[in-house]
Order: sequence, then C-alpha cells, then structure tokens
Amino acid sequence: MIARSQHPYHRSPHSAKQIDAMRPIFSCLLPLLIQAQVQPSWTKPIAPFQIADNLYYVGSQDLASYLVVTPTGNILINTNLVTSPPQIRASVQALGFRWNDTKILLNSQAHYDHAAGTAEVIRHTQAKNMVMDGDVRTMETGGRADFLAPSPNIPAYPPAHVDRVLHDQDTVTLGGVTLTAHKTAGHTPGCTTWTMRSHLPGEPAQALRNIVIIGGTGFWSEYHFVAAPGHPVSYPSIVQDFQHTFSVLRALPCDVFLGAHGQYFDMLAKRKRYPHAGPAVFIDPDGYKNYVAATQQTFEKELSKQEAAAGGD
Ligand SMILES: [Zn+2]
Repeated sequence: MIARSQHPYHRSPHSAKQIDAMRPIFSCLLPLLIQAQVQPSWTKPIAPFQIADNLYYVGSQDLASYLVVTPTGNILINTNLVTSPPQIRASVQALGFRWNDTKILLNSQAHYDHAAGTAEVIRHTQAKNMVMDGDVRTMETGGRADFLAPSPNIPAYPPAHVDRVLHDQDTVTLGGVTLTAHKTAGHTPGCTTWTMRSHLPGEPAQALRNIVIIGGTGFWSEYHFVAAPGHPVSYPSIVQDFQHTFSVLRALPCDVFLGAHGQYFDMLAKRKRYPHAGPAVFIDPDGYKNYVAATQQTFEKELSKQEAAAGGD
C-alpha cells in the first residue's frame, strides 16, 4: 500500500523512507506488490473526449493516452499498463475511429505504467513503434534494462521492438500532422515531452494553440543523484538530465497543458468543467508554469539533501 503512492508523483519523502525500510518485506511479496502498485485510477475508465480538432484523450482516469487523428491514419501516445489496450481500443472506437488505423505508437516514458501495453498494440495494429534514444533498451527489454531494475517499483512487461529511434527535437509526421519529441530525461533516460500545434473546437478558425504533453519530472527514493557509500549515482548524467529537462520545459510555449498522468494537469477537475466550457478547459499556461516550477523545486531540494548527506556543499 505504501508503494502505491511512490511511483507516479513521487512527492512524499517520508513514505519514500518507509519504502526503503520495508524493502525486505516487499521482496518476499513481490508478485502481490506488482498488483498492489496499480492504483485504481490507473485502470478506472473515463469516457474519451476531444481536446483539439485532431487530438483526443483515450486513457483511463489517470494514465493518459492520446490519439492524434490524421487523414492517413492515427498516432497513439502511450499504451499504459499491460491490461490497458482493450480499454484504449474501446475509447478509440467509442469516438468513431478505427483501432486498425493506429499507424504510429509514441510514448512519454518506458515505465510499465505508460508502455507495458505496447507489444499487444503492435500485434493488433502493426503500428510503428518510435522511442526516444535513452529508453530504447528499456522498451526492448520490457523494463529489465531500466536503471532502477530490478525493483518492485519497476515491474517488467512484454518487450516491444523499436522501429524508429528518436533523438531530441526529432519530429514525427503523419497525414500532415507533426509532433515534436523533446528529450526531457531524468525520470527515465529517454523520457519524452511531446508538443504539437493545433486548433481547438470553438476557437476562431485561424487560432492555433501550443500543446505540451509532459513526459514526467518525478523521482522517488531509489533515485540517487549523488554517489554515496553503498550506492553510485543512478546513471552518470542524471542530474544534468533533470536540470536540462527543467530548462527545456520552462522555455516551451504552452497553451494547452497535458501530461502522461492526468494528475500532472488536474485532468479530473478540468473534465468536470468540460461539459460547459469545452476543450478550452485545458488551456492553462499558468498551471503549466506552476507545475514545472514546483517539480523543479522538488528536484532541487532533493539534490541539495543528497549532496549534504554525501558531505558535499
Ligand atoms: Zn514513470
């Protein structure tokens, strides 16, 4: 139960310590724990909805999946848990789109809560799987190459072949629609923030909005930013990666604030206002700035703490 609060938002240093203390117990209960880590909001369905002319939400109450619709096929961002594809498929079909029109698969990060359904989606749709360089091995080993593995917080999942390796600021284009991949590493070495420009229903015809889908900026007690007796840093460039990520996110123009978890952008609260206000509820440049600033502060605080504990300054 304690571990359930750890993975997605990683904000509670106290429970982070508790989980370390309880690790010996967890390792005997590993199969149970993997089940326990799946939070109800990760599997609970939510009716799919439109965000922009060509962008739809097809995830669960908290695990975000996005469908980008184009005249020559669709792009799916995030396949989520190993159990999620039937739910995502049902959402795609409920919107009137065809599952088999899924031509390209993208992801926010290669953790099991965003990428574990990938192998199944490829099997059903033959979509091309495109992954940021730092997460390719993790995707192709089903999480086993994750720098945190083996860990009860990093359950393995069915490995998925990568068809195209993406690099920072690469673009993915289908049917005249272009998304840009920003490498926002640290949470995973290939964590990706996706951006696109699009028109929102109800807005003036010429108005285009900057849409940002944050890949993830969190960490938990297993992340080591500073080498200390007993453990090395999680991976050599992790601190620079996080710092670069925050500078990239601060600089991105954002009107429509989205992310890999609904909680990043208060999706459920915004969704409540949606029936009256429509997709404009997701226009939240201040919410975006505040989120980036708050998570940067959380990171810097933890970095200072680890530096102090290691005897640095
Ligand atoms: Zn993650």
